[in-house]
Amino acid sequence: MNTKITNPFVLKTIVWDEEDQRFCSPDRKSFVWGTDIVKSICTQDPKCPDDDIRDECTCGLYGSPNWQAIDEYFRYPNSVMALMKCYNVLNIWTAPWDIPNCYVTRTWGMRVAHIVKPDVMKDRGNMAQRYTSAVWAADYYNARVLDLAVINQIIKISWNEVCKIDPFAKLEGDKNG
Ligand SMILES: [Zn+2]
Repeated sequence: MNTKITNPFVLKTIVWDEEDQRFCSPDRKSFVWGTDIVKSICTQDPKCPDDDIRDECTCGLYGSPNWQAIDEYFRYPNSVMALMKCYNVLNIWTAPWDIPNCYVTRTWGMRVAHIVKPDVMKDRGNMAQRYTSAVWAADYYNARVLDLAVINQIIKISWNEVCKIDPFAKLEGDKNG
């Protein structure tokens, strides 16, 4: 599904980079998450248009409405889960078989809107450090730290408005509700 969109929300993991004092992508330290809209960087030749992603290109910013789809990144001790607002392009796929009932998204631009309270990461290491990272993120992005249940409501409403999909329907019975 390829939709020109207004502004749905998805989740993404960002990581506090102690050395450079900034937030970056978990697997790509050079990709910095600033406070404005962060745009996809196309490395193809020719490049995608400035405000778009060509269907055949793999550039774009990936995320998911379902935290279960991004929890592999919780292994980074400074990781923070953020609610991201998407801009311009939204591609929606169902996630691979190993993360059942979840969606994966790709968009052209993202901005950090809110931070997810790290409770969902419990049993994944140092919670004091995670809370510290969440508070730093809230301060840096002028955002709030919100319960996952609240964040999920924001996601659900935005998806219903934009594409009439309930991103949690397939997970029903799970704690995502
Ligand atoms: Zn591209």
